[in-house]
Amino acid sequence: MSPPENPVSPLAAPVSSDEAGLRQPVSTVWGVGEERAKLLARLRIFTVEDLLLHKPRRYEDRRKFLTIRDLKPGAPATVRGTIVAAGTKRFKQGTRSMFECVFEDGTARLHGRWWQAQPWMEDWFTVGREFLIFGKLDDVKKPRTFTHPETELVEPGDDEFVHVNRIVPIHPLTEGLTARVMRTLMWRALERFEKEIAEPAIGLDLKRFPARANAVRMVHFPNELTDVEIARQRLALDEIVALQFQIQSRRKKFEASAKALPCAGDNRLMKPFLAQLGFKLTAAQANVLKEIRTDLGGAHPMRRLLQGDVGSGKTAVAACSALMALENGFNVALMAPTEILAEQHFRNFTKWFEPLGVQVELQTGSRKSGAEGGLKLEDGKRVRPSILHPPSSIFVGTHALFTAGFELPKLGLVIIDEQHKFGVTQRETLVRKGNYPHLLVMTATPIPRTLGLTLYGDLDVSVIDEMPGGRGAIKTFVRTTEKLPKVFDFIREKISGGRQAYIVYPRVEVVDTDKDIKAVTKEFENVQKALSPFKVGLLHGRIKAADKEKTMTEFRLNEIQALVATSLIEVGVDVPNATVMLIENAEHFGLAQLHQLRGRIGRGAHESFCILISDAQHKEAQARLKILEETNDGFKIAEADLKLRGPGELLGQQQSGLPDLKFGNLAEDLNLIRQARELVAQLI
Ligand code: ADP
Ligand code: MG
Repeated sequence: MSPPENPVSPLAAPVSSDEAGLRQPVSTVWGVGEERAKLLARLRIFTVEDLLLHKPRRYEDRRKFLTIRDLKPGAPATVRGTIVAAGTKRFKQGTRSMFECVFEDGTARLHGRWWQAQPWMEDWFTVGREFLIFGKLDDVKKPRTFTHPETELVEPGDDEFVHVNRIVPIHPLTEGLTARVMRTLMWRALERFEKEIAEPAIGLDLKRFPARANAVRMVHFPNELTDVEIARQRLALDEIVALQFQIQSRRKKFEASAKALPCAGDNRLMKPFLAQLGFKLTAAQANVLKEIRTDLGGAHPMRRLLQGDVGSGKTAVAACSALMALENGFNVALMAPTEILAEQHFRNFTKWFEPLGVQVELQTGSRKSGAEGGLKLEDGKRVRPSILHPPSSIFVGTHALFTAGFELPKLGLVIIDEQHKFGVTQRETLVRKGNYPHLLVMTATPIPRTLGLTLYGDLDVSVIDEMPGGRGAIKTFVRTTEKLPKVFDFIREKISGGRQAYIVYPRVEVVDTDKDIKAVTKEFENVQKALSPFKVGLLHGRIKAADKEKTMTEFRLNEIQALVATSLIEVGVDVPNATVMLIENAEHFGLAQLHQLRGRIGRGAHESFCILISDAQHKEAQARLKILEETNDGFKIAEADLKLRGPGELLGQQQSGLPDLKFGNLAEDLNLIRQARELVAQLI
């Protein structure tokens, strides 16, 4: 097996100085032969550096010294004794054998026992030699016995002990590699290579932290347990600095090579737009727009992330931003993660922009407005009709917008809605597609700041931290299945009062292996019965796009009062008259996802209700749902989710752009990430 490319080696250039020694194969450490190299490779340890950065899983305090007489059953301790007798016992049947030796320390005797005697033992544990012995008394009263103790020879003049008389590390292991062997290798690697662990070349100001070489030793062989965290932070900082360096130099390079298109606009379209919008922008929306306008008129193409909790009014901000670019005669692309959301944006933007003389086009996998509106062919190449109708257009769509082979000429601004549904890499390719248009990325997943600074470290961040006024409150309840009949009575009551409801299940179809998880196709009938004579619609990913759109339209017009759906409706859908969100098997959704689903209600003036049904017995599942009952604050929820389930779960599998840090924790090291960012910014 050859060493894989490690994209974020914390020691990687350009932040580290020459460390050629550490790049040598791990077999340069004495005691690593072909066999052990193979075992280490399983732990992804290929070089000396990999070994030195193999973080202990836990520690054992083996400093507690007792006399043999004072040993108590069950309490691990270290004693010091001289061997007075030793030998191998063989058993008649089979190959079983036991090695045993007797230690003495002047207060009492202690037997050490090893099942399966090894040939070297008789030569090593010889009468007269002194050892430190760490172990736990067996339950049998007499004689005092340690089974498989850790031992270390006391050599005259040597007071450095690796395995006993200290806090010892227990590293992640693999079959065939014991903690003791790993510890020995680590010790040897440190003895030989510690001098070569250099400070990163960028010269971090690390008064608060030990030198890197020190930190590496401390993390494996700490003097006190409190040293471990200090050392970890130091090593984490190096990792995060390397990562920030990558991110920020990418940004720098981009700025050096890309010239911005002038898209700040002149208010020609904005004024009439705001006049007909029907509401006044919140102060938060207005502030964000100011930042965006500055960017759009700046020297470098905008790269901005707009965060705003569900319902904070990001669409209006997108519309205003689009108008700025349109006023300058550029085209705009708006990309949504689902067809439903693209259609919704298409409808809104058509309503808003067509009176202003701006053409709005739709392009999703299954529908394109151009085809219906008379798409023209020119030299076999498909061309958007609006290109022939200046001044400029906005193209709304899913990622089909960029994959269908259409030219999007004069593209001034790309807006990506609900960014978390797109991978980091997708974002990159998208932007490279155009001739460096400005980029506005919008997300409702409140990304915990730690992650935001990392994942979106190359973007500027704006936050809408205020909700439009005049909204009814959302109340959230967690209930068990038992309460379902009552819940449906409640929904009927709300529908009778003129409101509408969403009813969400985790699955499209029931899966045999897990019959307890409810599915929309099966529950649809039950819900219809329960809510009759009100009309119920069905929505999931396998329904044809045209039918989906028809159902959504009927729901929007309140021709359908309840919508049975999968989490497909999680993002963006905006029907202010819907005030009830019922989610069954709620434990099957992530917290952030539940919060998004809940964001579908509470959009109008009426009070809204989110009911989470779950029979989960699991303490953690209950705790997660309780968080939703307690808070509506998306940031708190995302942070809780991140801590409970890690970044992969929070952001979805596509976000594999997340680096795998050994010492840093992207969920918790906010301070370190901040420091690293500043350090690197100063440098670049
Ligand atoms: P999100 O940020 O989740 O995308 P939307 O843009 O869908 O939120 O907005 C949610 C609802 O709030 C929409 O019905 C929108 O028309 C309305 N809205 C947006 N801005 C304001 C505002 N300033 N005042 C009142 N209502 C607003
Ligand atoms: Mg939205």
